[in-house]
Amino acid sequence: MHQVATDALVLHAFDYRESSRIVRLATHDLGIISVIARGTRSPKSKMGSSLDLFTSGVAHVRVHATRDLHTLAGFDGTRGRPELAASLARFRAASALAELCLRFGREDDGGIVHAAITQVLDVLGAAEGLAVATVALSGAWRLVAEIGFAPSLTECASCHAPLPPTDAVTFSHRAGGALCATCARQARGGRTLPADARRTLVAWLESDIAADVAPLENDAAVRAHQRLLREFIEEHVGDGRPLRAFVSWEEALYGAPVAAP
Ligand SMILES: [Zn+2]
Repeated sequence: MHQVATDALVLHAFDYRESSRIVRLATHDLGIISVIARGTRSPKSKMGSSLDLFTSGVAHVRVHATRDLHTLAGFDGTRGRPELAASLARFRAASALAELCLRFGREDDGGIVHAAITQVLDVLGAAEGLAVATVALSGAWRLVAEIGFAPSLTECASCHAPLPPTDAVTFSHRAGGALCATCARQARGGRTLPADARRTLVAWLESDIAADVAPLENDAAVRAHQRLLREFIEEHVGDGRPLRAFVSWEEALYGAPVAAP
């Protein structure tokens, strides 16, 4: 067992037994980890009050080599993100992004998820209107790409033939991206990806997360992109568990009643 001090972001936390919490962190040095924070539910606990959702800080982690639950010895919060909880739209989008990190993330990822999610949440915290969903969607695709699952969009995912940018194509989640007409005929499943939606995806994947992204034009475009992203995540995570935060983010656009966070 050794202790590591690393930049970290709180992605998820839940109560454990009478006085502790289990916290899931995206970290720079250790990747996505689960830690137990003992005694943090006591009102006197300094650490407990700094472990709010989406807070950045320095985590002092006692690493257990043989277990996947480590111990959080301390957490020095450096940046809370109350602006995410202040807006239901931002909070739902941030929760969907956190779920994506937790589902895809792993230990010892070289800090890529921590760097990407921190940057996306900072941009999301200042977004308004349709930019909220747009920032979250573009950030989610950047995360997917950072983790190594970038979809093929400008050439066929199967035969690598170039795809003219003005063509509608078939997007096959299983094949990992867009298909040319010949490969699309041989592939089962897949959905049509219009040329403008493909251009948007290419722009998101080529952009820096912090760069300005042009907001999607309406809720219908947001819904179509959310569905495409969810299906892609489901295909490549493949463990069959529902993406609860992601689905609740999607349903919010349909006006379904939801409780405040
Ligand atoms: Zn092809």
